[in-house]
Amino acid sequence: MVLPWAPVSGHKETRYVFVTGGVVSSLGKGIATSSIGTLLRARGYRVTAVKIDPYINVDAGTMRPYEHGEVFVTDDGAETDLDIGTYERFLDVDLSRRNNLTTGQVYLAVIQKERQGAYLSQTVQVIPHVTDEIKARIYEAGEAANAEIVLVEVGGTVGDIESLPFLEAIRQIRFEVGRERTLYIHVTLLPYLGAAEEYKTKPTQHSVATLRGVGIQPDGLILRSRSPVPEEAKAKIALFTNVEADAVFSAYDADHVYAVPEMLEGQGIARLLERQLALERVTPELRVWQEAVRILRQPERHVSIGVVGKYVAMPDAYLSLMEALKHAGIANRARVDIDWVSAEEVTNGDAGDAFDAYDGILVPGGFGVRGIEGKVRAARYARERGIPYLGICLGLQVAVIEWARHVAGLGGANSTEFDPYTPHPVIDLMPEQLEVDGLGGTMRLGSWPMRIARGTLLESLYANRLEAGSRDGVTISERHRHRYEVNPAYVDALKAAGLVVSGVTPGMEGRGEGLVEAIEISGHPFFLGLQSHPEFTSRLMRPSPPFTGFIRSAVERRQGHPVDVMV
Ligand code: GLN
Repeated sequence: MVLPWAPVSGHKETRYVFVTGGVVSSLGKGIATSSIGTLLRARGYRVTAVKIDPYINVDAGTMRPYEHGEVFVTDDGAETDLDIGTYERFLDVDLSRRNNLTTGQVYLAVIQKERQGAYLSQTVQVIPHVTDEIKARIYEAGEAANAEIVLVEVGGTVGDIESLPFLEAIRQIRFEVGRERTLYIHVTLLPYLGAAEEYKTKPTQHSVATLRGVGIQPDGLILRSRSPVPEEAKAKIALFTNVEADAVFSAYDADHVYAVPEMLEGQGIARLLERQLALERVTPELRVWQEAVRILRQPERHVSIGVVGKYVAMPDAYLSLMEALKHAGIANRARVDIDWVSAEEVTNGDAGDAFDAYDGILVPGGFGVRGIEGKVRAARYARERGIPYLGICLGLQVAVIEWARHVAGLGGANSTEFDPYTPHPVIDLMPEQLEVDGLGGTMRLGSWPMRIARGTLLESLYANRLEAGSRDGVTISERHRHRYEVNPAYVDALKAAGLVVSGVTPGMEGRGEGLVEAIEISGHPFFLGLQSHPEFTSRLMRPSPPFTGFIRSAVERRQGHPVDVMV
């Protein structure tokens, strides 16, 4: 076999930690990977994480959130797997499109190169062409992030046909960069059989055998189980899987995902990392993290938030949102109970008093007409009853529709997404979307600036996050994913009726003062609509300002008096 180019190779110093999964899917590999990353970050290392998704979609943007969970958006506008969001929240780093690698991307690149003649005269094959492309992309992700340690999580389960080229690629990486710069960790399920009253190790043994079959002997195992795994079971697994006994870790069911780093730290996973990757022994700085977990476990208050959405049966479809509410709860020392309210049921039933039970109402992002009228009702109820309201993306759009219909006297107002013949298209397709052809990666995506008007609720929320100030206001940025916007032709009418436009994207031609990014209602305890998705940048130790303000307002509603915020 002739190699097409000089062999690709990673940076001389960079280390790679590969995480594979066995026995079943949905094991929490993302949490395991992120937790290892957290422990490395706490030791001062520059860490990045790559998620490999062996499906043929180029990205997650075209998949149903109902099946696949949320589509996470990065600063540079990639529509990624939700694990990228978990990495960002745990590692507190901003990732990019390089951090989510799919079969679709790899094949697309290889086929394009073939058409361009990059492999002239060769037979293009999975090995070496596809595997070289995979390796090159893993190395590039590490280099672009200037990472000292690159975590690579291979999605799916060992034994799947579609993950084979990826496993082959990560096997070759040890061969290329050296044993002392690579670590393989296999995460498996350890089922507990009630009748036998014991953990069953056989599936793990088979899974490791399958992994060995493709040439990878794991250096460490993380066993997912319902309770801490007894030492004898660990020793038995170590013996049968050829893994050192002190490299078998138990990831038992946790009360909070953010508790997993400490769980693994307590079992000494750092020793394995230090030993295998020749890292110095460093005391981790985990105090802020631990304090956040402590508040999660022992909140002083609680609030109840009604989230009026479409995918209420699949909370993973709103993963970042749930986490952002949790982070904002920590900042307010409050537990946030989320009640999922089906927008469709609100449409058909009586929105009425049911909403009074909530300390806050949140309408998250969404697409399509289903449940829209229920969301409009929710916004109206929050506005009229003075219930704290946070509208994200679609949640801003329904609040504007509601305001147009019931306050600005624009009967039948709607978004052209839901009613193309509405007499008042207060929400309309962005002009640049008219030329779009194809649905993959074509929305307004990623981080865009927002100029915040002086003297607004929004300004008070972002007070300590200001990136640049000017006479007209301060500018921050948040991530976006939408095709529609507030129709500039209606902005004056909405404002004349009292709506406050507190944020705009500056410098967008033909849109009056700029694309509407935020609206609020003065005199209301907390009524905020945002075209962006601030939940994507919320972190455990750095909560998102609109969420923190929303939860503070919900706490105040519940307590009946103002509170201090911790952050
Ligand atoms: N469907 C709306 C749009 O495309 C809202 C999108 C969203 O909430 N992310 O503009």
